[in-house]
Amino acid sequence: MSELSQREVNDFMAKVIAKNPGESEFHQAVKEVVESLMDFIDENPKYKKGKILERMVEPERVIIFRIPWIDDKGEIQINRGFRIQMNSAIGPYKGGLRLHPTVNLGILKFLAFEQVFKNSLTTLPMGGGKGGSDFDPKGKSDNEVMRFCQSFMTELSKHIGADTDVPAGDIGVGGREIGYLFGQYKRLRNEFTGVLTGKGLGWGGSLIRPEATGYGVVYFAKEMLATKNDTLEGKTVCISGSGNVAQYAVEKCIQLGAKVVTMSDSNGTIYDKDGITAEKLAWILDLKNVRRGRIKEYADNFPGVVYMEGQRPWSIKCDIAMPCATQNEVNGENAQALVNNGVICVAEGANMPSLPEAIEIFQKARILYAPGKASNAGGVSVSGLEMSQNSERLSWTREEVDAKLHQIMINIHKTCVKYGTEADGYINYVKGANIGGFVKVADAMLAQGLV
Ligand code: NAP
Repeated sequence: MSELSQREVNDFMAKVIAKNPGESEFHQAVKEVVESLMDFIDENPKYKKGKILERMVEPERVIIFRIPWIDDKGEIQINRGFRIQMNSAIGPYKGGLRLHPTVNLGILKFLAFEQVFKNSLTTLPMGGGKGGSDFDPKGKSDNEVMRFCQSFMTELSKHIGADTDVPAGDIGVGGREIGYLFGQYKRLRNEFTGVLTGKGLGWGGSLIRPEATGYGVVYFAKEMLATKNDTLEGKTVCISGSGNVAQYAVEKCIQLGAKVVTMSDSNGTIYDKDGITAEKLAWILDLKNVRRGRIKEYADNFPGVVYMEGQRPWSIKCDIAMPCATQNEVNGENAQALVNNGVICVAEGANMPSLPEAIEIFQKARILYAPGKASNAGGVSVSGLEMSQNSERLSWTREEVDAKLHQIMINIHKTCVKYGTEADGYINYVKGANIGGFVKVADAMLAQGLV
C-alpha cells in the first residue's frame, strides 16, 4: 500500500473507531476491507468523491428490541434482539440470524458488513444484513426455543419481508429455529412467502441448502488447489466446529478423497488419525442435530480417537485447514503452527475466523488463503436460489441446485483471481474478494444517487 493510502486508512479507521466505540469485531472487519481497497479507490476517484466507503460503514438501519418469553419453570426471561440492515443497493437485505450468548451490536455489524461483499460476490441480487440475539439455545427445551422464536419474530416481522429483508440461519439457528420463526411470521402476517431461507423441504425450502456452505467451502478449496495443479485427493484436512458448516465440509472432503482428522466444539477438539468416515460422520450428525450432545462423546464412542479438552485443532499436522466454528478462532500462534506443519491451503468456512496477525502469517508464507466472505458464500448463494424457487413457486432438483452452487463458487474464485493476483503471481484472495465484492455495490450506490 502507498504511504498516502496508509495515511488515509489510518484517518478513516480513527473516525470509524470514534463513531462506533467498543465494537472491536466491526473495526477489525472494516479495517481489513479498507486496507485492501484504498489503493483501488485512489485509482478510481468516483468512489472517493461519492464517499462510498464512508456510506458503506454506516448501516442503512439498525433495529434493537426486547424479547420477553417464559421458560419451562414459568419464569420470565428477557433477551435482546437485533437486525442490522446494512446495505440494499443490489437487492433486499439478506443474511443470517445468530443465537449465541456472545451476540452484541459490534459482532452483528461486522457480520452484516462482511455479508454485503459476500452477497455481491455471489452475483445474485442480494443486499447485506445480519441479526440475532444473546439467547443461548444450549440446554433449552424445544418448547423454550419455540417460545423464544415466537417472541423474537413478533417484533422482527415488522421489519422484514420477501422483498425487503430475508433472514436465514447462522450459529444456533438451524432447521428447528427457522421452522418456529417461519410459523410465527405466517401467523402474524397471514401470508406464505419466502421471508426466510433454510426452510424445510416440504414448505418452501431448497434442496442442498443445509449442505451449501460446507460444500461451497470445499468447492472453493478445490479451485484454489487447481491453481497449483493440485487436488484434495489424499490430503489430510483439519476442520474446526461440528455445526452445520463443519458437518457438510467434512462430507464433501470425504467425497473428494481427502482425510478429515479433526472436528471441535466450544469445549474441545477430537483428533481421529484414521480419518472421519461417512459412517462416523452420520453418527456425528445424529449427536449434534438430534441428541444435541458434545463432540467429546465421539472420542468416547470410537477407539483410537484423542480428545483435546479446551483446545483448537490447529496444532495437528495437516495439508488443508478449514476453520468452520466462529470468528477469531485462529490466532498468530495457531497460524504459525499450521505453517510450520506444512499447511498448503486455508479455506474459511466461518466468518472472520482468522485474526489479522494470522492472515499476515499465511500471506507471508505465500500459502493459499481464502477469507470467509469468498469461500463460505455458498450458503447465501443457495439461499438466493431458494428465493428464486419461492418466487417461481417451483422446486429444482438436487443436481440442479448443486451444479449452480458449484458454478457460483467457481465464479467467485475467478473474481478473486481477477482482482487479487499480485505482480509475482501470488493470488491475494483477501484483496480479490474485497475489490470484487465492492465494485458492484459501489456502482449501484452511485447510480441510485444519495440515498
Ligand atoms: P452452528 O451450526 O451453530 O455450529 C457452530 C459450531 O461452532 C459449533 O460446533 C459450536 O460449538 C462452535 N462454536 C460456536 N461458537 C464458538 C465459540 N465461541 N468458540 C468455539 N466454538 C464455537 O453454526 P454454523 O452455521 O455451522 O456456523 C459456523 C460459522 O460459519 C459461523 O462463523 C457462521 O457465521 C459461519 N457461516 C455459516 C453459514 C451457514 O449457512 N450456516 C454461512 C456462512 C457462514 P458449540 O456447540 O460448543 O457452541
